[in-house]
Amino acid sequence: MHIYPNATAVVRDLAPDEPVILNRPQAAARAARFFVEKFPGKSLYAVKANPSPELLRILFDNGITHFDVASIAEVRLAAATVPEATLCFMHPVKTPRAIREAYHQHGVKTFSLDTPEELEKIVEACRDEQGNAATDLRLLVRLRVSSEHAELSLASKFGADLGEASELLSLTRQHCDWMGICFHVGSQAMSPFAYVQALDRVRAIIADASVVIDMVDVGGGFPSVYPGMEPPPLEDYFKIIHQHFYALPIAYNAELWCEPGRALCAEYSSIIVKVEKRRGDELYINDGAYGALYDAAHVAWRFPVNALEDDLRDPLEDFSFFGPTCDDADFMQGPFPLPGDIQAGDYIEIGMLGAYGAAMKTGFNGFGDAEQVLVADEPMASLYDGSRERPAADNVVSLR
Ligand SMILES: *Cc1c(COP(=O)(O)O)cnc(C)c1O
Repeated sequence: MHIYPNATAVVRDLAPDEPVILNRPQAAARAARFFVEKFPGKSLYAVKANPSPELLRILFDNGITHFDVASIAEVRLAAATVPEATLCFMHPVKTPRAIREAYHQHGVKTFSLDTPEELEKIVEACRDEQGNAATDLRLLVRLRVSSEHAELSLASKFGADLGEASELLSLTRQHCDWMGICFHVGSQAMSPFAYVQALDRVRAIIADASVVIDMVDVGGGFPSVYPGMEPPPLEDYFKIIHQHFYALPIAYNAELWCEPGRALCAEYSSIIVKVEKRRGDELYINDGAYGALYDAAHVAWRFPVNALEDDLRDPLEDFSFFGPTCDDADFMQGPFPLPGDIQAGDYIEIGMLGAYGAAMKTGFNGFGDAEQVLVADEPMASLYDGSRERPAADNVVSLR
């Protein structure tokens, strides 16, 4: 497949009327290797962040061997795309049919749950034809933890509470030889402290339940970098998680897992959009709330932007965007700083859309088509290009 040097070259060649998704396999590969080398345990990729088969393959080829899947469609997709991978069904509410197909047809052994009813469902669905219970299940009890350090909450919906968790752990232990605890601190956790709080809760629950724990899965939530959101280095997260994991009262050979979605794929994709109309400081573009800019519209997320014309001379001004559909909610507040003389017909690259961006596109109102091409340049921001190494904060101490 042809590889363009950058977005400008794509615009010159295609002058596209529809949005174009630019994929950077090298950026996803680098993120995968970073987690494989530096996270002090196993890293699963959370498929929902971007289920593109090409991406699953890139991550697998760069050392991500386990995938967190949440629906039977994701199970089928991952099983077909990366058949050598280990799939873990991490949605705590599943249908019996989905569990049955996952276990009996796709070899899925790892399931999460947060109620006794879900445990019962899993045990029943995994019986063999003679009615014997499965002996190879690996079950994870999902705990509810705080989302206060994250930009997007995943705390209120799933997870057993402190009061019910120890009983559920004891019950689950009766149905598997290998049991773990998992949680999710929320997406784009801006402080490593989010994991400390969650692991403290894990410690309290294990002490209360006095059961053997074979694995602790700290979930996703690892941040990427966006305008106005510059997280501490991921190494800080890994270090503090490792320390607190070690202090837990768990089996001596217990495993540590994590399930990054965003951090593994945010840098994978950007998108080229075309300005269709300008009204003051509002630009009408051809992608939006029902396309790759879901988070920009719904939670006012800011993404980096770059005008792709070289004849724009004016200083940057703040713009907001309207998407192409007829819905007033198809609006992205931004602000998105672009040259003041930008106008209809000009193209813009919007970066960091590999996670929960390209994956969110719908066909609403007839919009949603997008060609995908490969580009060779760096993503518009990166946690992995070496530019964000901690500015010698540790040295300050030694210079005292
Ligand atoms: C969404 C999700 C993830 C990935 O979260 P990120 O914030 O993208 O890292 C991981 N695990 C579970 C169970 C999830 O629902």
